[in-house]
Amino acid sequence: MDEMERMLNSFWWGNKGGASRGINWMKWERFCVDKKLGGLGFRSLQLLNMVTLGKMGWRLIDEPDALMCKVLKVKYFPTSDFLSARIGHSLSFTWRSILTAQDLVRREVRWQIGDGTKVRIFHDPWLRRDEDFRLALVSPTFMNNLLVHDLMIPGTRRWDVDFLQVIVDDVDLREIDLQVGECAICRGGFENLCHSFFHCPFADECWRVSNLQDFIESIIDRCDSFKQALFKIVDEKNGELKASICMLLWQIWRDRNIVVWKNVYSAPHRSVCLAADCRNDWILAREARAQHAPIPQSTSLCLGWLPISSSSIICGVDAALFASDNFMGLGLVIRNHDGGFVVEKTLKTPGTT
Ligand SMILES: [Zn+2]
Repeated sequence: MDEMERMLNSFWWGNKGGASRGINWMKWERFCVDKKLGGLGFRSLQLLNMVTLGKMGWRLIDEPDALMCKVLKVKYFPTSDFLSARIGHSLSFTWRSILTAQDLVRREVRWQIGDGTKVRIFHDPWLRRDEDFRLALVSPTFMNNLLVHDLMIPGTRRWDVDFLQVIVDDVDLREIDLQVGECAICRGGFENLCHSFFHCPFADECWRVSNLQDFIESIIDRCDSFKQALFKIVDEKNGELKASICMLLWQIWRDRNIVVWKNVYSAPHRSVCLAADCRNDWILAREARAQHAPIPQSTSLCLGWLPISSSSIICGVDAALFASDNFMGLGLVIRNHDGGFVVEKTLKTPGTT
C-alpha cells in the first residue's frame, strides 16, 4: 500500500524513476485531506482499505445469513460473534485482513434496542450519543450480565424508571430516556422502522385507505428488514406506484414526528390525502419545469382539514340558490374523527328567500 501511494505521489509531482526528480510540494497526508479543508481530496489507500475491511466486518454482523458470513463464522468464530472473534491459528489472508478492522468496527458499532434481550447494559454499546455508548458506571459484579430487557417493566416496552434511577446516574438516565422505545403513535408497539412505516396501526390504516396495502404486504412478506423493503420499493418498475408509496412513507414519517414534537395526531385519511396531493404537486411541478413553464400553485384539497379529537365529528355543508327555478339545494356530510364516512344528506327545498 505504501509503495502504491509512493507511486501515485511520484506520478503527481513528475518523478520519473529518478531521471527528472520533481519537488514534492505537499505531504501525501495533506493530499488526502478533503478539498474544503485545504487538501486535494485524494483517497488515502490505507484508509480506503480499512474502510472496505470494516464494511466486510459490519456485514458479518448485519447479514449473518449471507453465504460469506456463514462460511467465515463456521471456520473462525463458531461460538461467538465477529466483535468477540479472536485471532486463532491457520488464518486465511482474507480473515486476517478483516480482523484488522475489528477494532474499528467495535469502536463505532452500536446496538439498536429491540426487546433488549441481547444487549448487556454495562458492556455493550447501546446509548445514543456521539461517543462512549456505554453506561458511565462500572457494573457491580452481581449485575454483570444485566440486560437492557431487565430495565423494562415486565410485559411492556416501557422503562422501569424506579429501577433505572437506582443503577444509573442522571446523565445516563437522560440518554436512556431518549433511546428508541414505545411507539409514539399507538403506544402499543416497540418503535423501529418496520413498525413505524408498516406495522403500526396508524401506518397500516394509511396503506389500507390508500389501496396500497396488498402491494406493501407482498413486499413485507419477502423482506427481513426495512432496508430490504425500501430497496424493493425503489426497484418497482411502475413509476406512479413507486411515487405514491414513497410519498406516503414520507407523510407517515412526518405525521409521526408531529406526534412526537407537538403531540398532534393526524387521521389516516388525511395523511393519505396529503400524500396524494404532494405527489400530484410534484408531478405537475416536474412537468412544468420540463416545459420551462411556471410551477403551478399547490392543488392540495386537504390542508384545511386539521386533526380533531376522537370524540368529535366533522360536518361539511354546502348550499346553492337556483333563482331561475326558484329552489334551494342543501347538502351535508358527516365524517368521524379520522375522516371515515358517517352519514350524508341532500335537500332540495322550494323558494330562495
Ligand atoms: Zn405504533
